[in-house]
Amino acid sequence: MTDIVVLGSTNMDLVTYVEKAPQRGETVPGRELRTIPGGKGANQAIAAARAGGTVSMIGAVGNDAFGTRLRSTLEHSGVDTDDLRTADGPSGTAHIVVDAEGGNAIVVVPGANGTLDHLSPGDEGVIASASTLLLQLEIPLPAVLAGARAARRHGVRTVLTPSPAQPLPGELLAAVDLLVPNEHEAAVLTGRTDPREAAGALLDRVPEVVVTLGAAGCLYAARGAEPLTVPAPEVTAVDTTGAGDTFVGALAVASGEGRPMPDALRWAAAAAALSVQREGATVSMPYRPEIDELYA
Ligand code: ADP
Repeated sequence: MTDIVVLGSTNMDLVTYVEKAPQRGETVPGRELRTIPGGKGANQAIAAARAGGTVSMIGAVGNDAFGTRLRSTLEHSGVDTDDLRTADGPSGTAHIVVDAEGGNAIVVVPGANGTLDHLSPGDEGVIASASTLLLQLEIPLPAVLAGARAARRHGVRTVLTPSPAQPLPGELLAAVDLLVPNEHEAAVLTGRTDPREAAGALLDRVPEVVVTLGAAGCLYAARGAEPLTVPAPEVTAVDTTGAGDTFVGALAVASGEGRPMPDALRWAAAAAALSVQREGATVSMPYRPEIDELYA
C-alpha cells in the first residue's frame, strides 16, 4: 500500500550564478554552475518522503546522465521509482540564471516530461493503492486530467498545485479535493489579487483551498468554515526555490496521518521554513525529526 503517489515532472536544474544576466548578443562570465535535481513532481515526492511518507512517483526521465541522476536522487530520498519511466530522449531541464541581486531568468525544456501525455496501464492501480495523489502542471494536461479522474474513481484524495499558472478546465478542478496555489497562481485562476477573495472564489470550484503567502504563511479556506491564516515561522531565507513544493509534500504527509488541518498546516509551514534557510530546492528539504523540532 502506497500512501502518497506523485504524478508529475522531473527536471535537472542547471543553475548559473552571474553578476548580471546577459542581454541579447552578450557573453558574460559566470561564477559557478550547479546541477540540482528538481521539477515540481520530483520536489514534492522528495519532500513527502523525507517528511516520513511512503511515496511513489509516476513520471518520466530521459535516457541520459541527468535521467540516471534524477532517478537515483529520488531513490536515495526513499521514493519508489518502479513507475518512473525512462523515455527515449533527453531529460527535462531548467536553465536558471541567478544574478547578484538574487533575481532569476529561467528556460524550461520539458524533454521526457513531454512524453507523459497519457497514463500507462499500470498507473491506475498505483493511484488506486494510495490515499493521496499529488498533481502539478509541468506535464501535459491530458495526463494530469487522467490522473485526477483515476483518483476520483478510487476515492483517492487529490491535491493540485496549479503551477505554472494558467487557466484550468472545469473538468480538472471538479476532480480536485484540495487546491494549493501561491498568491500569483490564485490571482491567475480567479482574476482577484486579494488572497481572501481569490480563496472565496476558488471555493465555488473546489471544496478546500490553501493559498500560500510566502513569508506571511498561508490562508486555508474550506466550504462552510471561517478562513484560517497560519503564520510561517520567522526565519532568514536564503533560497525560496521549492518552498511551495516542500510545503505541499509535508502537508500531504501530515493530513494523510489524520492530523487536523490547522496542525497539518503548521507542520507544513515548519518544513517549508527549514527549506528556505538552505540553498537548492531538493537538497534543502528537511527530514521529519527536524520538522518535528521546529514545530514543537
Ligand atoms: P511558492 O514557493 O510556490 O511560490 P510561497 O512563496 O507562497 O510558494 O511559499 C510556500 C510556503 O513556504 C509558504 O506558505 C511558507 O510556509 C513557506 N515560506 C516561503 N517563504 C518563506 C520565508 N521567507 N520564511 C518562512 N517561510 C517561507
